[in-house]
Amino acid sequence: MKDYEVIVIGSGCGALISDEAAGAGLKTALIDKGPLIGGTCLNWGCIPSKQLIYPADRIVEIEEAGRFGIAASVEAVDFGAIMERMRLSRREGQQHLRQGMKSVKNLTFYEGEARFVADHTLEVGGEKLKGEKIFIATGSRPFVPPVKGLEGVDYLTNESALELKELPESLIIIGGGYIAVEYGHFFAAMGTEVTILEMAGRLVLSEEPEIAELLEKKLGERMTVRTGAGAEEVKGGKDGVTVVTVDSQSGKRKSYTAQRIMMAVGRRSNADLLDVAKTGVKLDERGFIKVNARLETNVPDIFAVGDANGRQMFTHMANREAAIAAHNAINGASLEVDYSAVPHAVYSHPQIAAVGMREEEAKKDHHVIVGRTNYYDVAKGEAMLETEGFAKVILDKKTQKILGFHIIGPYAPGLIQEVVNAMTSGGGVEELNQGIHIHPALTELIPVTVNSAGE
Ligand SMILES: Cc1cc2nc3c(=O)[nH]c(=O)nc-3n(C[C@H](O)[C@H](O)[C@H](O)COP(=O)(O)OP(=O)(O)OC[C@H]3O[C@@H](n4cnc5c(N)ncnc54)[C@H](O)[C@@H]3O)c2cc1C
Repeated sequence: MKDYEVIVIGSGCGALISDEAAGAGLKTALIDKGPLIGGTCLNWGCIPSKQLIYPADRIVEIEEAGRFGIAASVEAVDFGAIMERMRLSRREGQQHLRQGMKSVKNLTFYEGEARFVADHTLEVGGEKLKGEKIFIATGSRPFVPPVKGLEGVDYLTNESALELKELPESLIIIGGGYIAVEYGHFFAAMGTEVTILEMAGRLVLSEEPEIAELLEKKLGERMTVRTGAGAEEVKGGKDGVTVVTVDSQSGKRKSYTAQRIMMAVGRRSNADLLDVAKTGVKLDERGFIKVNARLETNVPDIFAVGDANGRQMFTHMANREAAIAAHNAINGASLEVDYSAVPHAVYSHPQIAAVGMREEEAKKDHHVIVGRTNYYDVAKGEAMLETEGFAKVILDKKTQKILGFHIIGPYAPGLIQEVVNAMTSGGGVEELNQGIHIHPALTELIPVTVNSAGE
């Protein structure tokens, strides 16, 4: 049995904690099952997907240049080179991480799958490790629903899609969340004939309905999008893969065939791999690890951060939670995470970004006023001929605080930051109006939207 003052399981946001603990002079162990270390964002999530989507954005920009009177077309797309650039960056990231880890004093890295075997005790690669303080940062993995026939076909996930060497001629994506609409955009730009099949009545369920509606319309111009289409059965054949769907309204069945299919229906907890019951840690009804506001589980000195607790499954939140949990556990602080202004972005085409509550959610506890402005109504949006994108604000009528802000259109992920900062530092209309906005710039969209709010 080896004893550690701190054990961290998972080297995504967990690496921030192990760095902090080792830097504070504590005897620390970091465990990751590999084979790639550094977590989802670096290897299968944010970074590789955005390296692929950036060139896809450039392709669509060229294809849409005609509206400015520019005759341009894409001559050829080297799919292999685009994929290889992403994989090279990942290989370099691995080298860098492994090298860096060796030079951290007080840190031992174990590469292997960890499991709890007793109270505060883990087993990894046949060795037993006991930790005074343990951080579970084991993330999540693709959720694959039990669709009849699925196990018999070679389906892609957000992980295996990154290994593709050749562009699929046609692809069915099952799911309509952010991973589905980002990869739908990517593959369509590369030249694949894409079909998105979503069981729910609309795409991107965590967005405002009108944002989902515009996204569906715009994606529908470049690919087939079917909502209310639940995948019932999957069959492999000589023409590729056929997906049979059931219409949620009429109950009618329909078949779609493509060379490949990709499952993108959501994420599931990795807690099952850990056998947390052996140390008494409780899970919620979705299988994620239950934590309190300080990110501590029901077992003292065991914390769970990032996707592992299933609260806000984004890298920026995982990293924030890791910093807070480390501070609480290592420096004896008692900080709580503030989830009131957590932004997120969807890098589809058009892009989406949002922070705070949706209108329906906000109405439950607040008397709200809502504002909406089209990109075209600010000078820069007009210059860009952006006729469809828009921003929407939800304000508390009494306090004039921003409860939620939602944008669909170019540069939405960058634009939302001003709102996040305003919400974090007071959250009022006043704060936003105080700042002078460059004219003309898309940032004018923010104060104009806020000032448009009315009953
Ligand atoms: C396709 C895709 C795109 C995304 N894009 C974005 C984006 O643009 N922006 C954004 O903010 N978020 C994005 N996300 C979400 C983001 O990647 C995650 O929220 C984030 O990586 C979670 O970090 P984490 O540290 O909690 O977990 P992870 O980064 O998943 O790290 C968990 C680590 O634990 C290890 N592990 C698991 N179980 C064990 C075990 N039993 N023993 C040992 N090791 C174990 C795993 O190997 C892994 O390295 C995306 C996700 C996906 C899938």
